[in-house]
Amino acid sequence: MEEIGHFINGQRVAGKSGRTADVFNPATGEVTAKVALATTAELQEAVAIAEKAQVGWAKTNPQRRARVMMKFVSLLHRDMDKLASKLSAEHGKTFPDAKGDVIRGLEVAEFCIGAPHMMKGEFTEGAGPGIDMYSMRQPLGVVAGITPFNFPAMIPMWKFCVAIAAGNSFILKPSERNPSVPMMLAELMQEAGLPDGVLNVVNGDKEAVDAILDDPIIQAVGFVGSTAIAEYVYTRGTASGKRVQCFGGAKNHMLIMPDADLDQAADALVGAGFGAAGERCMAISVAVPVGQETADRLIEKLIPRVEALKVGPYTAGDDVDFGPVITPQARDRILGLVNSGVEQGAKLVVDGRDFKLQGYENGNFVGPCLFDNATKDMDIYKEEIFGPVLTVVRAENYEEALSLPMDHEYGNGTAIFTRDGDTARDFASRINIGMVGINVPIPVPLAYHTFGGWKRSGFGDLNQHGPDGFKFYTRTKTVTSRWPSGVKEGAEFSIPTMG
Ligand code: NAD
Repeated sequence: MEEIGHFINGQRVAGKSGRTADVFNPATGEVTAKVALATTAELQEAVAIAEKAQVGWAKTNPQRRARVMMKFVSLLHRDMDKLASKLSAEHGKTFPDAKGDVIRGLEVAEFCIGAPHMMKGEFTEGAGPGIDMYSMRQPLGVVAGITPFNFPAMIPMWKFCVAIAAGNSFILKPSERNPSVPMMLAELMQEAGLPDGVLNVVNGDKEAVDAILDDPIIQAVGFVGSTAIAEYVYTRGTASGKRVQCFGGAKNHMLIMPDADLDQAADALVGAGFGAAGERCMAISVAVPVGQETADRLIEKLIPRVEALKVGPYTAGDDVDFGPVITPQARDRILGLVNSGVEQGAKLVVDGRDFKLQGYENGNFVGPCLFDNATKDMDIYKEEIFGPVLTVVRAENYEEALSLPMDHEYGNGTAIFTRDGDTARDFASRINIGMVGINVPIPVPLAYHTFGGWKRSGFGDLNQHGPDGFKFYTRTKTVTSRWPSGVKEGAEFSIPTMG
C-alpha cells in the first residue's frame, strides 16, 4: 500500500505521526493509498524550513521567479494526462473534467508569468519640494493555503502560484481525500527550478489546520472549503493576527426568463447542475423559471436530458457524463436530503436514488435527481447539497425570481438566461452575488480576473488570483524620500503638507 507523506524542503518525506487517513477510489470503494496526517511539530518544522528558504527567494529578481512559472507551465502540459488520470482516480470526476481542473490551475500559473508587472510599485516625482514618493509591493514571508477535495489541482495552484511568484514561501495543506495531485504539482515546481523549501506540502487534518492557524511565523492563510470550516478558519486565523481569506459553500441560482432560448437553458442547466456530480462550488443547483408556462416548458425539456445522463467510472471514457461522489458519507447525506425534499413536498420528477452500476456496487454513485415545485422553506433549497441534484423553484415574475438568490445566505455564483439586455443589465447590477453569468451558466472568472463569492460564500476581503491575489499575498510599503539638498533648515512642528 502506497503511503503518501509530505513534501518538505524539496523532497518527499515520510510522516512521523503514526496517524494516517485512507485514500479511496470513489468509483470502486477500494483503498488505494494512505496519507500521513501531520502533527503540530511536523508543521512547525516545515514552517522553519520555509522561513529560511523565503529569504533567498524574495531576493531573487521577479523575472527569474517568473521563469520558474514558465517552466512549470510547460511541465504541466507534459504531464497533463498523468495528472488528470491520478486526479480522476482519487476524485472520481471524468478524465476530460480532470484535465479541465489542471488547465484552470495552469492558467493561473500562466498569469503569474506576468508577476514582475504585478509587483511594480508606483512613483511620484516631485510630490513636494525635492521630495519623491514611491510604493513597493513586498512578499509577506511564509504564507499558507488550505484547500478542498473538489478541485485538487486548480485550487492549490490558485494559491501557491500567486504567492510564490510574489516572493513568498508556501505551506500547502491539501484535502486529505485526494493528496496525490498536490504532491505531484510540488514535484513539478521543483523540477521547474524552484529552490528547496519554497513550496512545502504538509498533509493532514484538523490538527495540521489548527497548527497553521496558530503559527506565529505564517503571515497569511487562503482557505477554500465548506462554509462552517471557512468561518472557523477565518475567526481563528484573524484572531492570531493573520491576513485570512476564506471561500465557502454555495447555492447557485439560474434564472430563466420567458424570452430565453429554452433548449440552450436546459442544456446549460444539465451541464452546470450535474457536471462533476454537482461537486462544484459554481454548480447550478437551483433553476428559477419565470412564469408557469416557462416552468412547464423547461421541465419538459429537462426531464429527458436528465434521464439520459450517463453515470459511471472515469475509466469508461466518453460514455460517462459524471462519476461518483467523493465518499459514502457524502452519498448518504445527498440521499438523505433528497428524501427530505420528497417528505417536505417537492416533486421528484427524476429519481436517481436507486442507481446501481454493475461491477461498481461499492462505488459512491448517486443517480441524477430533478425536483420540481420546491419552495424556499425546504432543506433541499436552503442547504448546499453538493451532489447531482437540480432543484426547480418556480417564480411568478422577475422580481420574485430575483429575490430568491438575493435572500439566500450564499452568494457565490448566479446566472440569468434571457434575450433581453435590459433585464440582464438590471440583474447584473442589483444581484448581491460575487460572480454573475449572462447566458453563461458557470461564470468562473479567468485567471487574470478574480474569483470570489459574497455573503456566507466568502469571508475576508480580496478575491483569489488575478490582481487581488497579488494584493492578498503582498503588502505595500510607501517611501517618501528627500535628499539633503532639498532639506530646509530647522525643525518642523506641524504635520507636513505638500501644499
Ligand atoms: P471541507 O470544509 O470539508 O474541507 C476543506 C479543508 O478544510 C480541507 O483541507 C480539510 O482538511 C479542512 N478541514 C475539514 N474539516 C476541518 C476542521 N474541522 N477543522 C479544520 N480544518 C478542517 O470542504 P470539502 O468537502 O473538501 O470541499 C467542498 C466544499 O468546498 C463545498 O462546500 C464547496 O462549495 C466548497 N468550495 C468552495 C469554493 C469557493 O471558491 N467558494 C471552491 C471549491 C469548493
